[in-house]
Amino acid sequence: MCGIFGYVGTKKNAAQTVLEGLKLLEYRGYDSWGVAVKEKGGNKEQKTKFVVEKRTGKIADAKLNSKFLILNSSLALGHTRWATHGGVTDKNAHPHIDCTRKISIIHNGIIENYQELKKLLEKKHHKFLSDTDSEIIPHLIEEELKKFGFATSVRNAFNMLRGMNAIVAAYSISSEMVIAKTGSPLVIGENKKEFFVSSDATSILPHTKKMLFIKDNEMAIIGKNLQLINLGDGKKQKINFETINWKSQNLKKGKFPHFMIKEISEQPNIIRNIATTYQDQVSSLTKTIKTAKGTFFIGAGTASFAGLIGTYFFSKIANKHVNMAYASEFNYLLDFIKNKSLIIALSQSGETIDVVEPLTIAKKKKAKIATLTNTQGSTIYRMSDEKILLGAGIEQAVASTKAYIAKLSILLMLSYQLVNSSKTASEQLIESANEIEKIIKNKKKLKPVVELLAKNKHIYIIGRGVSYPTALEAALKIREVSYIHAEGLAGGELKHGTIALISKGTPCIVFAPLDETHDAILSNAIEIRSRGGIIIGVSNKNHPAFDYFIEVKNTSDATALSQIVPLQLIAYELALKKGYDPDKPRNLAKSVTVK
Ligand code: GLU
Repeated sequence: MCGIFGYVGTKKNAAQTVLEGLKLLEYRGYDSWGVAVKEKGGNKEQKTKFVVEKRTGKIADAKLNSKFLILNSSLALGHTRWATHGGVTDKNAHPHIDCTRKISIIHNGIIENYQELKKLLEKKHHKFLSDTDSEIIPHLIEEELKKFGFATSVRNAFNMLRGMNAIVAAYSISSEMVIAKTGSPLVIGENKKEFFVSSDATSILPHTKKMLFIKDNEMAIIGKNLQLINLGDGKKQKINFETINWKSQNLKKGKFPHFMIKEISEQPNIIRNIATTYQDQVSSLTKTIKTAKGTFFIGAGTASFAGLIGTYFFSKIANKHVNMAYASEFNYLLDFIKNKSLIIALSQSGETIDVVEPLTIAKKKKAKIATLTNTQGSTIYRMSDEKILLGAGIEQAVASTKAYIAKLSILLMLSYQLVNSSKTASEQLIESANEIEKIIKNKKKLKPVVELLAKNKHIYIIGRGVSYPTALEAALKIREVSYIHAEGLAGGELKHGTIALISKGTPCIVFAPLDETHDAILSNAIEIRSRGGIIIGVSNKNHPAFDYFIEVKNTSDATALSQIVPLQLIAYELALKKGYDPDKPRNLAKSVTVK
């Protein structure tokens, strides 16, 4: 959701560097984009005023003015916008500039008091060119500049904003960039006096692994040197760079046509890695779970379904009661939280605002926070007392696959370690990884099911026990990338309403693993079939109730991992068949940093 990328340093092609950075942020989703560049040399106008290029649509589709790209410049800032205030138009895209065109800003978030600030600025004759909340920022800075230097002006202006915001502001006269945040991620990368600012560390990775994660209520002044300052009292802070050990190959598709299929294919090795190397990593959290009074999983979207599967694992394997709540709903369930409570947050990006918000409240109540996240240094990572990195590598496709599988693998390890049996988890996981490899290799077998589903407007997916959250996740995957209405539900719930929607030809996917749910879910399948529904069975063995059969060998509890994979592949194929880009589904953002 919204991408910020800025560059200041010795390069002469800042615009190009920033555009390339923005392209690496595209996976987050955006509706428009823009870049502001300060040109070097030339006449006074060229030296002191920002040149701004802003467009709706995708960067790759834009015919860029070649003059813009060769602008001789060492400072630029760019933005991919996810509109909240003001329509999706060129003029509403960021960067925004002040009346003098010497100040340029990009913004992520929502300024809750922008209307009152805008009225004050209008009284002072500031001219606005857009309908956004963001555009007040350069004008507020312009006002402050009458009395203060640039950095102080940005600090004063930013402190007037209410809400959770992140900005990058640049001043053409001093060639400095000032960044500040109260919400939304910002990272600075440094490489020999070249500075990169971004919403995520991955987009900086091609340039450097040396990163500084900015905390809420901090600002940084970036010019020839770097200074970190507390937004409240204006005092200097100590700078602690971290070295990120990610591989930048993860940023490329390699031999795959899309990130989604690449990431699905990476799953067996991710599982194997967790099965063989995570015993120690999960042991500390296991101890915390044992002593906690009340454990909650929270997550959003796919992560919440991983959490729900976790509740079944914990109950069945470790005889332990854990609650799962959608992170956005957890705000309203926090009355239960006490100082001995444990919240385990599941978040691929580690930035999901719906997760950050209740964690902040829970922390105030002195609850213990743990996280399973893919992103070292992210906001949730930093908030947590205990952290386990998913080790899935950078996930670029918006629809999560490999991060989900990594979460499930770790949850299974945790459950078995609670009963001192992590070896069993490892063995099951390895078996599941082998089965997933086979499923991926034989993906052509799924073609008839893809053909059938592509013709339908509605798909129903059922499961019981641990396969119930799997049904929810399978339905979400199909909705996300193919835009077909798919609904997941617990098999037992069918008769309580939804069966009314089954008629001749309605496709229904039935998860029927060989576990304690097998017989009951087959009865549900037969009920659907007798109302004309077409049954696609996902199971260890075929059954007369199935019109189509997708084979997934039983691998004990780890079947929960293997059986989602054919559905990930089906969702991917459905997107292709319908002509959609599976990596960047419409209206969706990878990292949801705005409420
Ligand atoms: N509220 C701002 C706008 O609508 C920023 C949106 C974003 O975070 O991309 O332009």
